[in-house]
Amino acid sequence: MTDASITVTQSVVEQFTERYLRSIGCSIERSDDHWVVSVPDDTDTEITHGRHTLVRGEGTPEDDSTKRLNPESAFFQRLLREAGERSPSGKLSIESESDIEIPGWIQNGAVEVQGAQFTPYYDRTAIVILFRVGIETVSEYQQELLRAVAVDARSEEHLPRLAESFLERTSIEANEVFAGNSQLAKEEARPLLDAARDLLLDGIQHRLDEIHQEASRAADSEVEEYRQMQQQRIQELQEEHSNLSSKIDDLSEKINTGDEDSRVQALRERKELKSEYEELDETLDELWERRDSGFPERQREIRERHSLDVKVTPLTLTEIEYERGEVDFELIDGNINQTVTLGYGSGIGVADTVRCSACEQELSEHNPIQTISNGLECRSCTE
Ligand SMILES: [Zn+2]
Repeated sequence: MTDASITVTQSVVEQFTERYLRSIGCSIERSDDHWVVSVPDDTDTEITHGRHTLVRGEGTPEDDSTKRLNPESAFFQRLLREAGERSPSGKLSIESESDIEIPGWIQNGAVEVQGAQFTPYYDRTAIVILFRVGIETVSEYQQELLRAVAVDARSEEHLPRLAESFLERTSIEANEVFAGNSQLAKEEARPLLDAARDLLLDGIQHRLDEIHQEASRAADSEVEEYRQMQQQRIQELQEEHSNLSSKIDDLSEKINTGDEDSRVQALRERKELKSEYEELDETLDELWERRDSGFPERQREIRERHSLDVKVTPLTLTEIEYERGEVDFELIDGNINQTVTLGYGSGIGVADTVRCSACEQELSEHNPIQTISNGLECRSCTE
């Protein structure tokens, strides 16, 4: 999975919180177990202006100025909600001066890189959107993910590697500074946002299917449990039904053979039992009918309760300027040199796929380059 996907762990919570608070103009002083956040008076946020202490992880009771920072904490959840409502935008440049990224098929290979030279040809713009994905069924299953999706602003090309670079560069350790606000107009951002959302949903479809299957199985077993309970009830009612029937037979016998007094008594009793019997008949008929049609109402109710609810909310939108061009890798293998020229982008890395010159297999980190003595040859060809 190359998609930039992050489950909501403590470090993700901290990264997001820092990124978000800084983007709206707050300052943060960090120490090991807590942060002190200053929210200037003119900051447009739900968080109260002034100074707050954010305690990392669990423990420490909360009060007006001390808040806990962890995946479940009210403060973090409020921050996510606020980000979802306003989707603040920022801008980041990924310069070509940054280290050239060597692809896995060279890194893992048996050939040395003597030099690497990137020649940028043109500037491009991409946007990275950080989405919050909430997956829940009304019953119990709930998952939350943060996912970054990057698309080129002009071609809408999916740039998974750029999304990863964005997360790396804006992590706490990297401390990259945002270069102001995004210049993208709303009407330009809208189609990109939609494209990114589609890519995101495609990327998590498999996971959604799995959760959906799990929820269906839970619903199936609940339906089955209900069916068995109703079957048992039918049996009990049938027994009662046949008891009543033999009691009525006994009374009829008495009516035919008994004296006047007991006949009157038996007639009255039989009348009562007969109406009871008819009522039971109706109940049973109704139950049989519901059983034969598979208890549709109950099924619908159960399935609705187990259905999936997927909410996708864009949290932040970052415009990224990057460069595209070509990279020359100067490879050396013993006393043989060869320069390989490949499409490259800053923050994206090598954009071309390269195939083994002998077997045509795509070179990858699992099947890297082994030798350049006879073209670029993969490991499986030379073993
Ligand atoms: Zn090969």
